[in-house]
Amino acid sequence: MTAMGGAWAGRPCHGGLGRVGMADDHYLVLARRWRPQRFDDVVGQEHITRTLQNSLRSGRIHHAYLFVGSRGIGKTTSARILARCLNCLSSDGPTAEPCGECPNCRSIAAGTNIDVLEIDGASNNSVEDVRQIRDNVRMVPSSSRYKIYVIDEVHQLSSAAFNALLKTLEEPPPHAIFILATTEAHKIPATIISRCQRLDFRRVGVKELITLLTRIVVAEKRTASQDALYAIARAADGGVRDAESILDQLFSYCDGEITYQDVYSVLGLVDWRVLHDLCDALGREDVVRLLTIVEEVVVHGKDLSQFAQEILRYFRNLLVLRSGGPAELLALPDDEVAEMRERAGRFTLMQLVRLVEQFAELATGFDSQLAQRTALEAMLIRVSKRAVDVSVESVLEKLALLREGGAPTQIQQAAPASAPAKTKPAAASAPPSAPAPAAPAPVSKPAASAKKKSEVNLEPAAAVPDFAGPATAASTAKPERAAANGGVSARPAARELSVPGVTAEDAQTLLGDPHVQQVVKVFKGKIVDVKSVTPVAPAAQETE
Ligand SMILES: [Zn+2]
Repeated sequence: MTAMGGAWAGRPCHGGLGRVGMADDHYLVLARRWRPQRFDDVVGQEHITRTLQNSLRSGRIHHAYLFVGSRGIGKTTSARILARCLNCLSSDGPTAEPCGECPNCRSIAAGTNIDVLEIDGASNNSVEDVRQIRDNVRMVPSSSRYKIYVIDEVHQLSSAAFNALLKTLEEPPPHAIFILATTEAHKIPATIISRCQRLDFRRVGVKELITLLTRIVVAEKRTASQDALYAIARAADGGVRDAESILDQLFSYCDGEITYQDVYSVLGLVDWRVLHDLCDALGREDVVRLLTIVEEVVVHGKDLSQFAQEILRYFRNLLVLRSGGPAELLALPDDEVAEMRERAGRFTLMQLVRLVEQFAELATGFDSQLAQRTALEAMLIRVSKRAVDVSVESVLEKLALLREGGAPTQIQQAAPASAPAKTKPAAASAPPSAPAPAAPAPVSKPAASAKKKSEVNLEPAAAVPDFAGPATAASTAKPERAAANGGVSARPAARELSVPGVTAEDAQTLLGDPHVQQVVKVFKGKIVDVKSVTPVAPAAQETE
């Protein structure tokens, strides 16, 4: 708990928030200073810059390009560089290496070249606006080879405007080149897209962002710790402009070295040590501590939706490590990775999958890309580990149907001789106090299962993982699959799983799963039934 003081203290180096307010002006200076002037300087878009350079070298120049990608990753910058390549006066024709010195190169960089028109599609989206462009296009360029129209946010054009634009794209004058840029390609008519060479810009990787940030820090004669740069790169989420903007704020905020605490202070993020603390408290089932952490987050004025996302990112990282994924996927400095790896080892893979799914669901309310991505990753791991659905709902459904006389024969049939031995480890961790067959009372509530589903979901079982077991349910289940079917092809087993019964394999997975054990505990009455038809439960009784 004392560590918290340090974690929260941040280290507001002098400068103060007043200077952060100036960041916009200052940023313009920095952005201009660092705006790439050649394709070779564009960060993280080699697949695009190479394509464009090759087509310039071979003279295959298109009359319309469509630049697709999220904001702040270099679309406009690349459009300007392409314009320079096309109109640079240092060579006889288009070049892949513009000189950067001639009047055209200079004026294009400054945005003042009269033959390169940058149009904001959002505010010039009417059919009249596009007709104006059409009339203008016919006039030959005044001091350049090409008349270049860069239409940003082109998806904002009205459908009438798109129709007008299409006519121009169908028969462009030879001197006209259109560069359409958008963050939302799906909103652009297919007729337009088919007239363009489409280039998809990607989000820039953390490593590339760090390389860029390091270059800027050195050039600006500043210093920044490695974990601070990682934190900036993570927060920028693949955006070069965001990364530069954050770094610029930090230049204003700090006089000395930029530390990761400065980054957290400026961005209003929660320190990772708080997340470690939260993770530990979850492990101890320390509810008081968990509530205190939330209280502290609120008191420190942190944004709770942001906090929820940070929690999600944290457990997603544990999940990556637990599943044997490479540390590069974490975007964390090495020493941080070691600490994460240690904590990841306290959970089973499936515990982390469930934690991540739950936090992703929480964070999805905030419509974040991280939440969507993480939920997808968790689902993929779940699916890759077992095709069996082990959700609480599916377990309850199966148990309820089983009680109503659902298909015990197939279960017996699916119970191979080898199963009991394998299920011993799982059974050993079952609740020792289970009174088993002597408890008939709960048996009378099968109809309640539909309602119980939501109730059980609220059980803290999944949110408060059981640290005791190095539980290996998921990892052991996989190789035995073929054997559990007694050498018979996997097809019949798959069919059994689709009917409302519990196969030996199924039950083995379920009982080996701590989360499901919680369900088993809640529905003890029903477990008696399961025991009578599967080899799993008898094994559990033997051990008691
Ligand atoms: Zn030039």
